[in-house]
Amino acid sequence: MIDLKIEDVKKVVANNNYKKVIVLLPAGVMTQSIELSKVIPTPYFMSNPCYGACDVPMHLIEKFDADAIFNFAHSRPIKFPTYPKNVHFFEIQVIRDTSPFVPKFDNIGLIYVIQFKESYAKYKEFLELKGKTVVLGELPDFMATHPGQITGCDVGAAKKIIDKVDGFVVACDGFFHSNAVAVLGKPTYNWNGEKATAPKFPIAKLFISKKIGIITGTKPGQSYLKEANAVKTKLESQGKQVIMVIGDVITQEINNYDVEFWITATCPRMAEDEYLTPSAPVHEVLKYL
Ligand code: SF4
Repeated sequence: MIDLKIEDVKKVVANNNYKKVIVLLPAGVMTQSIELSKVIPTPYFMSNPCYGACDVPMHLIEKFDADAIFNFAHSRPIKFPTYPKNVHFFEIQVIRDTSPFVPKFDNIGLIYVIQFKESYAKYKEFLELKGKTVVLGELPDFMATHPGQITGCDVGAAKKIIDKVDGFVVACDGFFHSNAVAVLGKPTYNWNGEKATAPKFPIAKLFISKKIGIITGTKPGQSYLKEANAVKTKLESQGKQVIMVIGDVITQEINNYDVEFWITATCPRMAEDEYLTPSAPVHEVLKYL
């Protein structure tokens, strides 16, 4: 079940006298559009799912003469990107029973994704009743908002407690977020008890490739242009040919470019995309150049 934070939405609409609003929903929340239409006078829903707080199409405010943008299921970034006051985040919550998973290690680093912000505290109590020591995550680095919260690109909340814990449990479903924490090198599980593995990128292939593509996004939090340019300069000095590509959605047409290896200077999800192989995120590549 989902808590849509309808009362918060009503308050924001009334307090600001908003009429036209661009509404950004993750795929799993698109079914709630009718409910939201009852409390937002003139909503414009996006056809694409919204993936994160990085994903706010500011240019649409002017194009559709909208009063505001509402981003559901994410939170306002602590540092970057920054947004004006008429961009609102609604931290909608997944409502469900606490996980029964108890990891074998004793000192547990507990962190969460925003949709689990109101459930992870109960899980902490449960683990303590089982005799475990639970260390809550600290403040994130840039994209997440609250102490203990992570996103796929910002695991700062976990990194800051790494010396105090034997391993991590991430209050989240699936593997995208828990795999990002597993990169820190300690045993990591999602709260369903499934073990996470750090993504491995075929960096060795980069060194034997001559034609490189670097892709950067257009969304405010998905454009690591500075890093992209630094990598381009470095690779060109090694005699490689490098093209820069801009894009948010990857389809198989990207294979029309004559490229042997892709570097993603955008959301880390992109390097895991089936159409971009072989590939690696720009931050990973920078470690080797
Ligand atoms: S992991 Fe990707 S989708 Fe999520 S906040 Fe970061 S850039 Fe955005």
